[in-house]
Amino acid sequence: MSAGDTNDSLFDRACRVMPGGVSSPVRAFGAVGGTPYFVARAEGAHVWDVEGRRYLDYVQSYGASILGHAHPRVVEAVRAAAGRGTTYGAPTEGEVLLGEELALRVEGLEMVRLVSSGTEAAMSAVRLARGATGRSRIVKFAGCYHGHSDGLLAAGGSGVADAGLADSAGVTAGAVADTVVAPYNRVPEVGDDVAAVVVEPVAANMGLVAPAEGFLAGLRQACDRAGALLCFDEVITGFRLGPGGASQRFGVRPDLWCFGKVIGGGLPLGAFGGRRDVMEHLAPLGPVYQAGTLSGNPVATAAGLAVLAELDAGAYTMLDGRAAELAAALSEVITGAGLAVQVPRVGPLLGLFFSSSPVCDHDEARAAVANGRYRRFFRAMLDRGVALAPGPYEAIFPSLAHGRDDIERTADAAAAAAREVLGHEVEGRAGASGGTGVDRPGRVRA
Ligand SMILES: *Cc1c(COP(=O)(O)O)cnc(C)c1O
Repeated sequence: MSAGDTNDSLFDRACRVMPGGVSSPVRAFGAVGGTPYFVARAEGAHVWDVEGRRYLDYVQSYGASILGHAHPRVVEAVRAAAGRGTTYGAPTEGEVLLGEELALRVEGLEMVRLVSSGTEAAMSAVRLARGATGRSRIVKFAGCYHGHSDGLLAAGGSGVADAGLADSAGVTAGAVADTVVAPYNRVPEVGDDVAAVVVEPVAANMGLVAPAEGFLAGLRQACDRAGALLCFDEVITGFRLGPGGASQRFGVRPDLWCFGKVIGGGLPLGAFGGRRDVMEHLAPLGPVYQAGTLSGNPVATAAGLAVLAELDAGAYTMLDGRAAELAAALSEVITGAGLAVQVPRVGPLLGLFFSSSPVCDHDEARAAVANGRYRRFFRAMLDRGVALAPGPYEAIFPSLAHGRDDIERTADAAAAAAREVLGHEVEGRAGASGGTGVDRPGRVRA
């Protein structure tokens, strides 16, 4: 950064050298409008942009920073690891320790393979499931996001949903021919040609959608009947909903898991794992090939271990408590301002839909988002120094660094932001009806 750079000037330069000015689409603010803030530094619950503006941050790298930014123990672990060399292309003790930590916390997770992203984890888990079962077909759910590998992008959530893309250009019909997309929260038919049913056990990429009673257990039964593998994509829920993630919380054990985000402590790290007999199909033991130059990276494993060391029972209780306070406060002040809202919560994860009815699947999420209120609310919150994710399909991620005063500040900002959104709509209607403030039939409404 050169002196005097602003968000606008950096974005201009970024757009010349990077498509859309970003390294990942949602960051471009396409769904909410305006120029993205360029982060200069972050600490705890806050980020600062290049203009010196501070934001209370609920993005937290989409869940990768569960302790908050730049936690001293994580910074120290990263520093120490980097000083010993950043990558070797040889096995390290850190990988063993992290693998053991993951297996210790998640019941049924017998073996893991470390990778560098959630995308890689899900993509590799699918290959493994196909290799292990000798079957081709994959069942996924509309609105669930499993990274951007070809076969899993169909009807994805997150930025894919933002951009209004059913999937993506450049993905061949052949690449998705074996992907079946089913509606979330209904147990689909699982035929004996299905290698795996892949699911976010709590959907956190179409806003936040909790699994309906019996949905996950129903998937387990359907997979068992068909001889298919059940794969939980716990890239968001893993080590966040509790030490054992969603499988522990809902009492349903999959055959395979995908992890990312939390376990890298803010560095590029993912993992997939599961039953020993399935994992043993992986090279070098078995015929399913999977590899990575930076896999099990020593700096990333050090960061991940430092984070897991902080996540004891007390940490989860605190995180849940903060999230409960935040959900209650948001619901109360936004409703109080006169806007219908749903604030779904599963443990420490929150969603925000400006809708009068609960959201249970992708169609309902899209319908809830169609009124455009999230966009205006996001902008009004950002103006007040509170950063939500710049897209209506992302979850809200309070971290362990968010204190009670931060929750109160958020509630105050949300009350004012909700009034601003409503005021804007009333004004819009008044304008459309000739400034009288009275709706006339036949006029276009905001
Ligand atoms: C973020 C995410 C991924 C992809 O992880 P990346 O590290 O971005 O590749 C996969 N699955 C879920 C559920 C995610 O939220």
